[in-house]
Amino acid sequence: MEPMRGSCLCGEVQFEVTAEPSAVRYCHCESCKKLSGSIGTANARVPSESIRILAGEDVLRSYQPKEGSSKTFCSRCGSNLFGGGWPEAQEVSLRLSAIDTAFDRKPTAHNFVRSVAAWETLPDDGAERFEETRP
Ligand SMILES: [Zn+2]
Ligand SMILES: [Zn+2]
Repeated sequence: MEPMRGSCLCGEVQFEVTAEPSAVRYCHCESCKKLSGSIGTANARVPSESIRILAGEDVLRSYQPKEGSSKTFCSRCGSNLFGGGWPEAQEVSLRLSAIDTAFDRKPTAHNFVRSVAAWETLPDDGAERFEETRP
């Protein structure tokens, strides 16, 4: 496949992804809510080694919450780019919001629906729902 291109809001971080995602899912967990400023994250699961940073490696920072895996963001604009323990983990989460190339694979699961907020409405989109993650 053609590599997908991605970037952060300020454009300092540029990257490409050379693998077809193995899965595409939403995560509604509390960490994803806080870091995204929204209902959570939409993620593509890709091998860590398929992500190549083209620019801005020096402004990337990772945060390790008490629970779950580390999250990586641009320290200039705050855009969250990768989760799931990038770059150490074998497979990581690429935020769909960071992808600039046309990408039309709809998420097939809603993870962490136990953390859906009182102000949040889950869409009736036919995607599987999991209290946490797929057992
Ligand atoms: Zn940025
Ligand atoms: Zn999450």
